[in-house]
Amino acid sequence: MTPLDDVRALVLSRCPSFEPVRVSRADAAGLVLAADVLSTEDVPPFHNTAVDGYAVQAADVSTVPVELHVIGELAAGAAPTIEVVKGSAIRIMTGAPIPPGCDAVVMVEDTERIGDHAVKINAPISAGANIRRAGSDIPAGDVVFTAGTIVSPTVEGVLASVNAIEVLVHRRIRVGVISTGDELVVDGSTLQPGQIRESNKSMLVRLVEESGATAVDLGVVRDDEMLLQAALFDAINTHRCDVLVTSGGVSMGDYDVVKAVLNRIATMDWFQIAMKPAKPLAFGTLSNAKGVDVPVFGLPGNPVSSLVSFELIARPAIRTMMGFGSQAWRPLVTAVLDHDIARNPDGKIHFDRGTATWGSDGRVHVSRPTSQGSHQLASSALANALVHVPDGSGLRAGDNVVITFLG
Ligand code: AMP
Ligand code: MG
Repeated sequence: MTPLDDVRALVLSRCPSFEPVRVSRADAAGLVLAADVLSTEDVPPFHNTAVDGYAVQAADVSTVPVELHVIGELAAGAAPTIEVVKGSAIRIMTGAPIPPGCDAVVMVEDTERIGDHAVKINAPISAGANIRRAGSDIPAGDVVFTAGTIVSPTVEGVLASVNAIEVLVHRRIRVGVISTGDELVVDGSTLQPGQIRESNKSMLVRLVEESGATAVDLGVVRDDEMLLQAALFDAINTHRCDVLVTSGGVSMGDYDVVKAVLNRIATMDWFQIAMKPAKPLAFGTLSNAKGVDVPVFGLPGNPVSSLVSFELIARPAIRTMMGFGSQAWRPLVTAVLDHDIARNPDGKIHFDRGTATWGSDGRVHVSRPTSQGSHQLASSALANALVHVPDGSGLRAGDNVVITFLG
């Protein structure tokens, strides 16, 4: 058996990186910047008021109360036309430019309006108060975001504020998902003897999308070598998939056609990983018509095994190919185990599906359902963590355990 870390290292060493692409800001959502973004403009572009109130000269309001002559009004979006002179004030709304002559803004809550043309100021104020200076958020010429930044909703907002219409990003790769098995039914028809309903593809397509890539649903392929070979070549040539994820057919069964076909047409490693579930994994590359090597992940068919090997191996690899760097990986957290976990030594690390919550002691606690069979997807469906149960004779309630947060 190969340790998980060795498998991960080998997989990453064979995954390509892709040429960055220039895309519109909206299309960059969720992707990773491939170059620094510089601001060509000051943000804010001009000095403006942070509050609704009165633009004044601070020297006029050093002793209060004091009455000032209101000589005009300025809303956000308007350009100033008149100057604040000694003894005067201009009514001003949040975001409006600071008019000439003004060096402070009194907030409206500290004033009383007297008729149309005067205002009483009740609180003293110092020069610069309530003025947002040009460039105080982002000065022109500054690096706003460095390469490697994920374009989150907030990052996208800032990119808009500096007028970054297009950005250079690591592209969203296309990941084809294929399920294999003669027993699988997808169309909702009555199950015939021996048939089961397909579930891996539904799950894996969403997991691929959640990872940030584009999922290409390539359907279910019968356990037939010619059909499977055609489907794989179709995936990388017609559907232009950058990566393939198959499920089923990689273990020791007589009808494990994925193994037979990939061995013939691709360059593969067949792993027995020292972990449970998801011990078998096929990984390799398949050359497309242009001679580009496309990574192929042959995940085991048991639904829980598919989930765990996608999460622990395929997902970080896909995200690494999309430039996520250290953020390709799910966070590891130390949690308090809420009950015993029994197991026997078998040379493998076990990844039990569990539920992590914040305890009233301020620590992360984790519990796990008892049904941990690799066919029992339902009990894993609400899990938000993989509990790392090291090789040995189990863990005790209250022990510290490492968990992988599934988000
Ligand atoms: P295999 O790896 O093809 O031998 O499949 C192992 C187990 O997983 C068998 O019980 C299959 O019926 C089941 N299985 C394989 N693929 C799927 C799938 N896409 N959805 C649900 N169960 C599956
Ligand atoms: Mg099968």
